[in-house]
Amino acid sequence: MKYCFGVDIGGTTVKMGLFSTTGDLYEKWEIKTRTENEGRQVLPDIAASIRGKMEEKGISTVETAGVGVGVPAPVREGVVKNSANIGWGYKNVKKEMEELLPGIRAEIGNDANVAALGEMWLGAGKGCSDMIMVTLGTGVGGGVICHGQIIAGANGAGGEIGHICVNYNETEKCGCGKTGCLEQYASATGIARLAKLRLAKPHEKTILEGKNLSAKSVFDAVKKGDRIATEIAEEFGAYLGHALANMAVITDPERIVIGGGVSNAGPALLPFIEKPFQEKTFFANKDTKIVLATLGNDAGICGAARMIL
Ligand SMILES: [Zn+2]
Repeated sequence: MKYCFGVDIGGTTVKMGLFSTTGDLYEKWEIKTRTENEGRQVLPDIAASIRGKMEEKGISTVETAGVGVGVPAPVREGVVKNSANIGWGYKNVKKEMEELLPGIRAEIGNDANVAALGEMWLGAGKGCSDMIMVTLGTGVGGGVICHGQIIAGANGAGGEIGHICVNYNETEKCGCGKTGCLEQYASATGIARLAKLRLAKPHEKTILEGKNLSAKSVFDAVKKGDRIATEIAEEFGAYLGHALANMAVITDPERIVIGGGVSNAGPALLPFIEKPFQEKTFFANKDTKIVLATLGNDAGICGAARMIL
């Protein structure tokens, strides 16, 4: 019997999980992300928490297959060049983690890529070895998996789906500094922006009027049959569905998994993405299934643990 740990570092909390190497999640817990002093306590805090859990459960170093860590930054061979949310500049995360936990192997990955791996292992992508996951949160993240492997790329930025250009005429800037990125239309913030722009134009009566405009309020209104909200959802879906059709010709995925906060809208979300996907996709990719993620916030710890196997 072997154990492994999955760690998902976020800007406010670090999520952690104890797994068997066969995919049972025994326990999950969280610690605070101490970002002060350039985040220098983050890795020692994680190591101390893991050591504490090993003592509590009577797990020895030889029984521990390793620790996988997901980081909100591009990661290349265990090294992060810059992760603003946790205060890190250049950091060899793999090396430091292995020094903090002698005798235990560490593997490091980008958090969105790692979440994709988690969904493939234990969630909506179970049984697939070719999959794309899109995370629609505050931003748009993604992970591309080919033959069961994450495509991390030459700079650790593989699968940065949020920055595919989907509108050559956009004048507003994306967080990355460029214009017309998918993130500007398909993230939670992007959907709220589309709603704001739509309501600024002449429009018929809508229950969105005077509401706090968010991805949630838009999809709640869609479910009540609101026409303006439905138009906003169609615009979001067209950008995302067409981008996914373009991506599908590159890796020919078996499934496309939609996760992140926006996916909490549930199955009502899918037709808005499927229709434009089918309109633009290459005939050979027409059977690609678009499904909702099932692991929620646990995708990160699951995928992090999966990196060890
Ligand atoms: Zn961008």
